[in-house]
Amino acid sequence: METSDIRAEFPFFRKVKSECGQPIVYFDNAATSLKPKCVVDKVSQYYLETSANVHRGVHQLSESATREFEGTRTEIQSLLGANHAEEIVLTSGATHGLNLVALGWARQHLKSGDEILLTEMEHHANIVPWHLLQREKDIQLRFVPVQKDGTLDLSRLESLVSRNTRLASFVMTSNVLGTINPTREIISRLKAINPGIHIVLDGAQAAAHEKLDVCELGCSALTLSAHKMCGPTGVGALYLRQDFRDEFSPVMGGGDMINKVTLEGSTFAPFPSILEPGTPNIAGVIGFGEAIRFLKRVGFSTVQKQEQKLLEKTSQMLAEIKGLRLVGHNTHKSPVFSFEIEGAHSHDVATVLDKYGIAVRSGHHCAQPLMKALGVVSTARASLNFYNSEEEVDRFAEALIKTRELVQ
Ligand SMILES: *Cc1c(COP(=O)(O)O)cnc(C)c1O
Repeated sequence: METSDIRAEFPFFRKVKSECGQPIVYFDNAATSLKPKCVVDKVSQYYLETSANVHRGVHQLSESATREFEGTRTEIQSLLGANHAEEIVLTSGATHGLNLVALGWARQHLKSGDEILLTEMEHHANIVPWHLLQREKDIQLRFVPVQKDGTLDLSRLESLVSRNTRLASFVMTSNVLGTINPTREIISRLKAINPGIHIVLDGAQAAAHEKLDVCELGCSALTLSAHKMCGPTGVGALYLRQDFRDEFSPVMGGGDMINKVTLEGSTFAPFPSILEPGTPNIAGVIGFGEAIRFLKRVGFSTVQKQEQKLLEKTSQMLAEIKGLRLVGHNTHKSPVFSFEIEGAHSHDVATVLDKYGIAVRSGHHCAQPLMKALGVVSTARASLNFYNSEEEVDRFAEALIKTRELVQ
């Protein structure tokens, strides 16, 4: 698919104009992606034409909703190369998935003195659940440090792992810097020291840009968010390898996760239902399935080719702008750029860029420890996706030059 054909699937590009009268250049894809029309149509079709609950009624509407809902599970299984659809837990997003691992597994299985390995590059969603667990358990958190070029300092890796490290959880692609971590290398080095270690991957960004294969990676768990992958908000998935999954306890109770309930007690449904209580975000899950089919139609090779082109062009353009400093920049990354303009606060940079119709994010990007490690308080962040165009990068360049003059 050509970029113009891909863009034609997103009404956003035709319909949404900024105050300056020009189309908005949407460079905030690491916060959430745009949605193609097919995904929104699928969601509204569910509400307008089906609107039945799943796993309950025997009537045809409920059966059709259940079929589409479970179809998404199979779609995710195939996307991730998982062995069984029952290894996919449908969640409300990447955050929910990581909290499930902390509450459903770590809370039951970690004991005093056990360690968890994280990195300084994590999203708050992969730090705070572990802090919460530390309130209940005497466990140690260790962090792989980040270097100035935005890569992990893996020379320290072996010294941070021991027999007591029960779990290592880390981000595959940084939402702040775009850094693509050498996931396979990290996993094999960790397992060489501690073969029993559980690997939990934060694939929230990575899944939108590359084809993942959980069996080849050899991870115990991997978390996703639909809305970073052209799907609806409030939906995601957690892959749990069967043997790891079987060690999970239910975290929340309610309908759909039980086998039999009496006043004396309850027995539970098998996985994955036991981890999915209550009426789920049915429309969102069905829309997620459509988003995956859309990504497949585009193809990850097209995604990667266009992103590489955008990465090179934008890197070169940003390097030529005087007074602009890239933060944690290296060449092996997805097209995400954190930067500062000398003498200006990132919120002012983003506000002025917005006047020129360029949408970028500013702040700490849900990664305050990473900001601290890089010696910054906040950055402006431009995050591009496969449907962005080279013309949009040109408009970004012009706007940056004008912005620099205004804010300095
Ligand atoms: C967005 C993101 C999350 C959190 O996703 P939610 O959809 O907010 O749950 C976690 N990790 C990374 C790397 C992210 O980019």
